[in-house]
Amino acid sequence: MRGFILGRYNQLMKTIYTFVPSPKHIYPDHPERPGRFDVLKPRLKSFHAESMDATAATREEIASIHDPNLVSALEKVCREEAPGIIDYAPTYVTPSSFEDALLAAGGVISCTRAVVRSDAQNAFAIIRPPGHHAEPDRAMGFCIFNNVAIGARSAIEGGMERVLIIDYDAHHGNGTQAAFLKDERVGFLSVHQYQHGFYPGTGWIEDAPHAKKRIVNVPLPAYAGDQVYEQVVDRVFRSFVESFKPQLIFISVGFDAHWNDPITMLGLSTAGYLMLARKVTSMAEEYCDGKIVFVLEGGYDPTNVANGTEAVFLAATGTGKLEVHDPNPNDEPDCESRIEEVCKWHGFS
Ligand SMILES: [Zn+2]
Repeated sequence: MRGFILGRYNQLMKTIYTFVPSPKHIYPDHPERPGRFDVLKPRLKSFHAESMDATAATREEIASIHDPNLVSALEKVCREEAPGIIDYAPTYVTPSSFEDALLAAGGVISCTRAVVRSDAQNAFAIIRPPGHHAEPDRAMGFCIFNNVAIGARSAIEGGMERVLIIDYDAHHGNGTQAAFLKDERVGFLSVHQYQHGFYPGTGWIEDAPHAKKRIVNVPLPAYAGDQVYEQVVDRVFRSFVESFKPQLIFISVGFDAHWNDPITMLGLSTAGYLMLARKVTSMAEEYCDGKIVFVLEGGYDPTNVANGTEAVFLAATGTGKLEVHDPNPNDEPDCESRIEEVCKWHGFS
């Protein structure tokens, strides 16, 4: 007998995903490489989710976030001068990067449309190059176009009035913040490692004083892990979702907050990623009809990327059990007062 997952009102729930591995977007010795998906790829079919082809984003869709001059300059540099480095992070381009970036952004748009139209309950855009550092007028931080921001604009085009983006990549989502500084329809929350010299250097609590309760930053010290993140979710995510009342939630998910990521110093385990995915999925069920779209950002250890992706699918489909056990071996710092400071600044109870 075949079993189905039924949601509230016994509707058939479906989780979809797009997979855009961009094998030709590659640069010698760079951590943001196609090999990030080496462990994930053979496991993708085992998740209880339906694959959907991505369609490349149009120039108009990219221009909903980015300056058209940036778009044409990037196209030119890819066609005429690539491969090469275009910013100090370093961000690189190859002759295929422009098309790869259009397809990555298009993957998010395809997932978003399916969820907005209720063709799917929720979705995961497993794409690269990533997007959350890309600002309206510049590509940066391994990112060409801001995929999640373009997705949020397409949700608004599709009729959503309030969209919330929660970013728990290890780095501050500076590009997403910059894209929506003045857009009241989009809320943004980023939780990230913050200390002197850590990329990109933005994301302090008081970054956007004009947008309290709409642009929320939770800067964390190194080694913050599962316990600290759970407090952040229960105190900050929940208050924000309650006050902003989104109709759709996007998650910029980066697996570089895992304790053994090679380029960061946070402390999440795979169980911590599952806790995060479950809590945001259940908030979406409580506040916005279950509408949630996960969008991949960073994560530079292929095993963490595969395990973290599995955790997202376990939460999104409500099926299966986590087999991975990789607890953080480091002690976590006490972040109570930092979390308190964030809540106070925004007036969250
Ligand atoms: Zn990152």
